[in-house]
Amino acid sequence: MSPNLEIELVAKYPKIYRDYNGDIMATNMAWGMEHDDGWGTLVDCLCKNIQDHIDNSIESVKRYEESENKDSWYKKPEIVSQVIVDQQKEKFGGLRFYCSGGDDIIDGMVTMAESLSYKICENCGHPGSPDENDSWIKTLCKRCRRRNKPSKIYPRIDGEDIRKALGGE
Ligand SMILES: [Zn+2]
Repeated sequence: MSPNLEIELVAKYPKIYRDYNGDIMATNMAWGMEHDDGWGTLVDCLCKNIQDHIDNSIESVKRYEESENKDSWYKKPEIVSQVIVDQQKEKFGGLRFYCSGGDDIIDGMVTMAESLSYKICENCGHPGSPDENDSWIKTLCKRCRRRNKPSKIYPRIDGEDIRKALGGE
């Protein structure tokens, strides 16, 4: 994705993107978000729902611990472990969001987002479909397919640039 859009997501969801721009030997997020901008809103919604679900679980546990009457709770809540993305890319026309942590509900969110990506133009975000083109499958809208523009290749972002963009030293 465009560097400015990637940094926007990293700033919004720093826990999920903890390994963004990390060491090449340690994480695939060293390569950034390997798809085009059209899926930015989809990924934003996915990350928002994931982080809300985790934060809500932490709040529930806190309320439970502070509760005078724990017996009234139908079920003892548990903290959902923090999701950390290891790889985010396009493959065979669809979004792949590989991550650690989470629970079954978050697994469902990821499955939903990945399946939706086959209906969204990877280039511009309008409704699209995966069509084969020169043996290369890419999910595009009619307009972008007519233009037949290749994926943009962005240079790897320097860690220094990210720290600056996120308001660091
Ligand atoms: Zn398009």
